[in-house]
Amino acid sequence: DSDSPGTRATAADPQRQQQARHAAQHGASAAQLSRGQGASAPAMVSTSFVPLRHGTQTIGVAEIVLDQSASAVTTAQSFRRAALLAGLAMALCIAAAATLVRQRARQEQRLHTRASFLAEHDVLTGALNHSHFSRRLEQACRHSNGRRNSNGDSQSVSALAQRMLARLAEPHDLPGLSEAVHISACVGAALHGVDGTDAGSLLHNAELALLRAKSNGRSGWSFYDASLDRRLQERRALAHDLSQALSQGWLRLHFQPLYGDAGHTLTGYEALARWPHPSRGFVPPAEFIPVAEDNGQIEALGRWVLDAACHEAASWPAPLSVAVNLSAAQFRRGDAIVGEVAAALAASGLAPQRLELEITESLLINHTQQVLATLQALRGLGVRIAMDDFGTGYSSLAYLWRFPFDKLKIDRALTQGLGSDARVDAVVRSIVTLAHSLSIKVNAEGVETAAQRDALCQHGCDELQGYLLGRPMPADRLVHRENEVVVVLETA
Ligand code: C2E
Ligand code: CA
Ligand code: CA
Repeated sequence: DSDSPGTRATAADPQRQQQARHAAQHGASAAQLSRGQGASAPAMVSTSFVPLRHGTQTIGVAEIVLDQSASAVTTAQSFRRAALLAGLAMALCIAAAATLVRQRARQEQRLHTRASFLAEHDVLTGALNHSHFSRRLEQACRHSNGRRNSNGDSQSVSALAQRMLARLAEPHDLPGLSEAVHISACVGAALHGVDGTDAGSLLHNAELALLRAKSNGRSGWSFYDASLDRRLQERRALAHDLSQALSQGWLRLHFQPLYGDAGHTLTGYEALARWPHPSRGFVPPAEFIPVAEDNGQIEALGRWVLDAACHEAASWPAPLSVAVNLSAAQFRRGDAIVGEVAAALAASGLAPQRLELEITESLLINHTQQVLATLQALRGLGVRIAMDDFGTGYSSLAYLWRFPFDKLKIDRALTQGLGSDARVDAVVRSIVTLAHSLSIKVNAEGVETAAQRDALCQHGCDELQGYLLGRPMPADRLVHRENEVVVVLETA
């Protein structure tokens, strides 16, 4: 045994004796860490028993005791630091996991909210969609039934409508556009308890009010009014029937003769659309043309008129011409009308100079440049362009010098004023002089009396048209001969 800096092995320390014996018997050293014992011993020691050999014989066991206090402190500190770091890392992991779970829950909630929003709202405008609006309206009706509205509500509804329109009328800045966008809107309103008590009739009546608001102008609002809206309902029914008439080929053309040479020489005919309705009788074009214009049917109708008129005129002796009325709505699709006219001429084989297109001033009020270009292109086909109804609308002279019209048609309101008011005669004379100075021919419409015919010839009109000279007639009743002042009654 060797002395240690701390203690010696004694009988009272059987554990150490056993370790020493173990080292001596097995020739192996062993070390262990333990607290120092005794007042003068270091706080922490490592003890090892090393067998001492001489040859193959074990002659003793040395007990080596090393002071491990400093390293124990370092170890303890490192352990504490490591434990602290491990704790922190674990806390961070738990916090991160919790945040992730919370974020995912929030995202799911957002997706859910978005999905329910999309199910109930219009994607573009964010307003309630039709089906959800109807449900909410039904709920509101059930809730309000029994509590009838008062004037008070109509005032608040009109105030709301005006506020909405004012807000929408403000210029809107849109991303990617350098200029502010201006939009307009129309509002149609029906009052619960006054114009209906269930969602269906309220919606229907509000839509009728909306149609009326729209027909009144670009922006405005309107309440349902049973008497006024009945007229709109009729227009809807007419539009429905017109679609059927167009698809079934029920429309017809009548032709009214045009006479030159002081009303003697037949120059051609104006094609006028006729609609023999199965229950309403003949619907006048003044009624169904505006309906067709409002409902987008004018394009199909216009194409049909062009084709049918050119086809008919191709069978007349040359140089008799046909005049076809074009609605301003037919110019909405840019110069598509040019292709349609060319197609009608090609299909019928009619020479372009035998086709005359009648337009009204209303066409030139908007989009003048584009319309003038389209008119030039039409004229480029070789057809003639006439200004219809001159003297009733704006009669702006600017239109006359900005486009080389071939003909100007004096409206029948002026014709009918001749003889009774000297100023009308002066106006007609001036129109004729002005037109002739611009190399434009003049037609006078609505000639019903010999006195009107004579006055118009005296004022220098080139062409006459009216019941006195001939009514519009179906193609099979046309007699292509010089005028003998024969009045033919228009028949169904
Ligand atoms: P509009 O182009 O001014 O056609 C002349 C209208 O005056 C025709 O009415 C004709 O029947 C009528 N009229 C002719 N002579 C006399 C007369 O001596 N006295 C009276 N009181 N009336 C006379 P209609 O056929 O009822 O056509 C009315 C309007 O409907 C036409 O006026 C034209 O603007 C439009 N329209 C007719 N057919 C078509 C068409 O195919 N396309 C387009 N876009 N409009 C058409
Ligand atoms: Ca006309
Ligand atoms: Ca006319």
